[in-house]
This record gives sequence, C-alpha cells and structure tokens, in this order.
Amino acid sequence: ETIVVQELANRMAERAADVVKSLMKMGLMVSMNEPIDADTAELVIEEFGHKAVRVSDSDVEQVIDKVQDADEDLVPRPPIVTIMGHVDHGKTSLLDAIRKTSVVSGEAGGITQHIGAYQVTTDSGAVLTFLDTPGHAAFTSMRARGAQVTDIVVLVVAADDAVMPQTVEAIAHARAAKVPMIVAINKCDKPSANPQKVRTGLLQHEVVVEQMGGEVLDVEVSALTGKGLDLLLESIALQAEILDLRANPKRAAAGAVIEAKLDVGRGPVATVLIEHGTLRKGDIFVVGAQWGKVRALINDKGQRVDEAGPSVPVEVLGLNGTPEAGDVLNVVETEAQAREIADYRDQVIRDKRAAAGAATTMEQLMAKAKADKNVSELPILVKADVQGSAEAIIQAMEKIGNEEVRVRVLHSGVGAITESDVSLAEASGAPVIGFNVRANAPARAAANQKGVEIRYYSVIYDLVDDVKAAASGLLKNEI
Ligand code: GDP
Repeated sequence: ETIVVQELANRMAERAADVVKSLMKMGLMVSMNEPIDADTAELVIEEFGHKAVRVSDSDVEQVIDKVQDADEDLVPRPPIVTIMGHVDHGKTSLLDAIRKTSVVSGEAGGITQHIGAYQVTTDSGAVLTFLDTPGHAAFTSMRARGAQVTDIVVLVVAADDAVMPQTVEAIAHARAAKVPMIVAINKCDKPSANPQKVRTGLLQHEVVVEQMGGEVLDVEVSALTGKGLDLLLESIALQAEILDLRANPKRAAAGAVIEAKLDVGRGPVATVLIEHGTLRKGDIFVVGAQWGKVRALINDKGQRVDEAGPSVPVEVLGLNGTPEAGDVLNVVETEAQAREIADYRDQVIRDKRAAAGAATTMEQLMAKAKADKNVSELPILVKADVQGSAEAIIQAMEKIGNEEVRVRVLHSGVGAITESDVSLAEASGAPVIGFNVRANAPARAAANQKGVEIRYYSVIYDLVDDVKAAASGLLKNEI
C-alpha cells in the first residue's frame, strides 16, 4: 500500500513541497511524484496535525451495507431481461415492439425515454425489466466488471435464417453467466419462415426447446406485426416465476450502472438498475470511483419519481463525476464515507492502470480462481481448426482434475480467435486456447488491453500437460 506524495498533499490540502520537506526531515529523499508507504504517510499526516484514516477494501465492505436479508423482508421483484442473438435477426426491432406494447396499453402516460432499460407490464399484470442494449457486448462487459444484471436471456433467432455464429456465442454467454434462456423465433410473418429449422438447429447446440421435448421455452413471434409478443412476455413472466426472484426493498440501496453520460444541462447522469433496497431523493451514495447525493430520480417514462426499488431502472442526478457502465452504486450514511471510498477506489484504479500491461498468466488465473472461495475451477475457452479436434480437447479437459479442481470449457468453436472470444474470456477470467488457429488482429489487441491470456497449441498432449500443471499448482497451494 503506497501513496504518491502529491496525492497525499492534495488530500491534506497542504503544499506538496512542504510534504517533501517534512519527509526530508525524516531522512527520506523523495520527489513529489514518488510513492511512499502507508506507515510513512501516517507519520507525515500526524506531523501536519491531521488525522489519518486508512481506507482499505475491508473498510469499504464495512461501510457498505452487506447484511444478510431476513426471509420475511424479501419480496418478489421483476426479472431483468437481455435480448441477444445474431445481427439482423431482429433484436432492436423486438425491443422497440415490446416497448410499444406498453405505450399502446396506455401505461402510466409519459413518452418512453431511452435511459438504457425500460419496464413493461404484461396482460396478466407481471412487470418485466428489459435492458435496452441488445447484444452480448454490453452483457459481457458488465459481467467483466462484476455486475450481473440479467436474470433471463431472450435468444432471438430469425425464422427465415438459421442458427448463426453470434447465436452460438449468445448461447455460450448465457451459459457462462448461468442465466436461463427463452428462444424467440422471430420474423415468423415471412413466407420463407421455417421455425422448425431453427429448433433443430438449436438442438445441435444442446438447446432443447419445449416443442422438441426439452425445457427451454420457445415462442414464435414477429417484431414487425407484433404477433406472438404477448405470449413471449407471458413466457418470460413464467420463467421469472420459476426463478422466484426476490429482493429486500427495505435496506440501503445498491444497483448497477447500465449507462452514464455527461449531460450538458444536467451534469453527470447515470442510469442505475436497482438490485436491492430503495433509492430515494437525498440519499448519499458512492458509485465506482464517484460519489454523490441524489438530486433527482427520473424513470423510463421521463417522469420524476421520489424513489426506485428493486429491478427498477432510474436516471440518477447529483453525481460529482461520470461513473462507468458496470459500476456498482451503494448508498452510504455520510458524505465523508462516500468521499473516502470514492477517493480510495480512484487510487486503486490508477494503481491498476499503472500495473496494466502485465498480462495475466494461466497460473495467475488459477490463483484468482482459488481466491474466489470454493471455486477451484479453471475456466477455459477453446478455438480449434476443425470440430474433431475441438471435441477431442473438450474430452481431454474433462478428464483433468478431481473433486477439488475442475477444468470447465466455457465455449468451444471452430475458426480464428475473435474479439468476442476474448471478451467472453475476460468476463469469466479464462484463458483462450488456440489449437492450430491464431487470434485475428482485433482479438490480439483486445487481449493485450484486457490482459487476457491467449495460448497456442498444435499438440493436444502439450495442452493437457500445461493445464494439468496449472491445476496441480492450485492443488499444492491449497494444502
Ligand atoms: P438486430 O441487428 O438483431 O438488432 O436486427 P434489427 O432489429 O435491426 O432487424 C434487422 C432487419 O430485420 C430490419 O430490417 C428489420 O426491419 C427486420 N425485421 C426485424 N424483425 C422482423 C420481423 O419480425 N419480420 C420481418 N419481416 N422483418 C423483421
């Protein structure tokens, strides 16, 4: 734990030159751009007559309300739904059509605003929350930041097309996140529509829909004519009921940022999807490395509201800076706490940036997997030149490990390693294995930037040996 002299001076509102002088008196020759350790910093702080307050991850944890909810406080909450699927299969059209159904049914006046998510009420009265950004890029980047804000994935497949590469990716993303899927077979208004072909296509990826004797709900729809949309919404509501989603509205609010921007007139604005608790006007909060006090809350209909409960998306005004999508908002008690945590996180982010470039190795990933309590699992992503080798690798990987360590193949496919593979790997902390294939240029750039490890192999034995070594390293550390 260190702090740069200049930063320490800023926090004490003293001149950096004076801090350097005081350090010199202590026999330490450092410039204002150099870091000093926490103990030294504490001495300096006392020297200047201030009180040292050290913030660490555990302090942050303490300030943020992490109490276990009592069962009787948990009430049902709407499901949060993300629409995924191949490009041009109708994700955007479907989101628009669903949004319109709520406008048509005259729900709560107001014109729907784009704030990143919206809510609709089904005919039977169930409320559903839809994330307004289709596709898995947003989904994975949120997950990579630790915010899991999807309860149900609607997989859109066009009935006049077939299961396509991004359909398969979406399936992998939903599985990696352990989120149930509902299949919307879209464009059923087209004469060339062949829903059955979609169902058999999905079978090849082990998605067995109801009509094929499986458990995945599937609905034939048309975003164009609106046919089947009611049924789709009711199916989502049904799936949500099975999931029995609950949250405690009576505690300090927590939520995830799904969009944030700097608005010319209103200042920094973030759309937050509330996870638990109720966010109210006047609440003091910390969100990522920013903090604020709720000045106004605006719902998806553009109306000002006094509070927002679980699964409700709201625009939050009153931030002191713009957070990032995926940042978590937590209500805290005092402004001082909020400020302190935000400062601390800001420092952590800067330290991380400084340390970036150091690529993550398979060993580090294993260590991380171990740190994530009770998960002694090495997730990996496999891309191979032909289906046969991909399958051979999966079989070999499944044989590695015992009760304590397991290798989990998150996704496997044929062809070059792409940017999408890298983002899925990042979200799950997995390395990407290329078997007789390489990563394309955007994928390499993304891997470098995100610190995702890509390993190339042409002999399965070598791959098995490396993974075994990583796994046994984990075992040894365990003892
Ligand atoms: P996205 O890339 O998955 O978001 O797909 P879009 O929503 O942009 O749709 C791609 C194209 O398919 C557009 O030209 C839409 O008008 C068209 N489309 C979407 N849904 C339907 C549908 O149900 N029926 C028909 N006939 N066309 C559709």
